[in-house]
Amino acid sequence: MSRFRLYPTPEQQTALLEQCRHARHMWNLALVQWSMWSRDKGPTPGYIEQARQLTEARAAFAWLRAGSQTVQQQALRDFDHAVTSFYAGTRRRPTWRKADRHEGFRIVGGQATRIVHLSRKWARVNIPKVGWVRFRLSRAVPDAKSYRVTRDRAGRWHLAFAAVPPPIPAPGTGEVVGVDRGVAVSAALSTGELLSCPRPPKTEEARLRYLQRRLARCCRGSNRWQRVKAAIAKLRARARDRRKDWVEKTSTDLASRFDVIRVENLRIAQMTRRPRPKPDPERPGQFLPNRRRAKAGLNRSILASAWGSLVRRLEDKAAGRLEKVNPAHTSQTCSVCGHCAPESRESQAVFWCVACGHQAHADVNAAINIAAGRAVSARQETPGRVSPKREPQLATSA
Ligand SMILES: [Zn+2]
Repeated sequence: MSRFRLYPTPEQQTALLEQCRHARHMWNLALVQWSMWSRDKGPTPGYIEQARQLTEARAAFAWLRAGSQTVQQQALRDFDHAVTSFYAGTRRRPTWRKADRHEGFRIVGGQATRIVHLSRKWARVNIPKVGWVRFRLSRAVPDAKSYRVTRDRAGRWHLAFAAVPPPIPAPGTGEVVGVDRGVAVSAALSTGELLSCPRPPKTEEARLRYLQRRLARCCRGSNRWQRVKAAIAKLRARARDRRKDWVEKTSTDLASRFDVIRVENLRIAQMTRRPRPKPDPERPGQFLPNRRRAKAGLNRSILASAWGSLVRRLEDKAAGRLEKVNPAHTSQTCSVCGHCAPESRESQAVFWCVACGHQAHADVNAAINIAAGRAVSARQETPGRVSPKREPQLATSA
C-alpha cells in the first residue's frame, strides 16, 4: 500500500466526511442484514442482492442519490469481502463502523485514475462529488485500479492506493538471525544488537495524562470536550507514527541483511488478555486481588513495543524467509552448552549459566536460541484440543 497525505480545503473536508458517512451507513446496514440470519428465515441477502436494493434506495431517497454510487457500492463490496474473510478464518467478525473512528471510503475503476501532477511535489486527484483535492507527492504514484480515502482520529486525510510492493530480495549470504522480542528491549538480535522502539518522551506522557484527566472533567459533547479530545488524538497519532516508522525501518533492515529470520511464535492476543478474576473462597461473590492493573501496565508495554506489527511487516517484506519458533524455554536455556534451568536467568538483563558459567545479555542469549531454532523440541508438538465452538484463533499475530 502506498499512502499520500491529502490536503482538502474546509469545504472539501465537509464533502469528504459526507461520503464517509454514506460508506459507513451502507456498511452498517449490510451488517444489520447479515446479523438477522436465523435458521428458519433462510439466507440473508448477498452483495448482488444488496447492490440491487441500493439502486432502489437511491431512487427513493434524495440524500442517498446526492452521494456517489461508487462509494456506496464499494462499502457493500468491502463488507462482502469482510464476511468472506471471516468465514475463511483470516479476519475477525465484521464490526460496526463508528463515526470519528472509521472515516473512509473507496473509489474504483476509471474514477480512480483521475490524477494530475501539479509540480514535482504536488498532485491533485478528482474525487467524485468532491472535486480536485491536492495531495503531497511523497513518492511515485503506483499504477493501481483503486484508492481509499481515510481520515484518522487526529483529523489527517490520506489517499491510499492498493498496490502491493514486491518483497525485499534475500541477500543470499545464508545468514540466519534470531529476534527476541521483549519489553525492556523491543527486539534483541542474535548478532548482539539491541533495538528499541522509540517511546514518547516523559513530557509527552505527562501531557497525555493531564489531558485525559481534563477530558474526564469536561461536559461530554461540549466544545471544550471536543478540543481536548482532538489534542489527545494528536498525541496518540504522534506515538503511533513513531512506532510505525521504527517497525518499517527495522523490518526493511532485517529483511535486506539476513536470509532467514526466526522469531518466537507468540500469541500476543492471548498474552495481553486481562487476568482471570480470582473468587474469594471465604466470601462468595467477592474477589481476591488478581493484579489486574499491573497486568494492564505490562500489556500497554507489550503493545507499545509493536511486537505484532514487526512480525506482520516481516511476513510481507521477507516473504517465505520468516520462520516461527516455539517460544518455550528460550530465555532459560544456555546458548553455549544448552543447559536449561530457570536459575540461569540472573535478572531481567543478565543471563548466567549455572552449568558452564557462560554470561551474556539475557535477551541476546534468547535470540541466539531462537536463531538455532532449538526450542522447538522442548515442548509437545501436538496442539491442545480446542473446542469446536470457539472461533478460529490465528497463531500468527495479535
Ligand atoms: Zn551453559
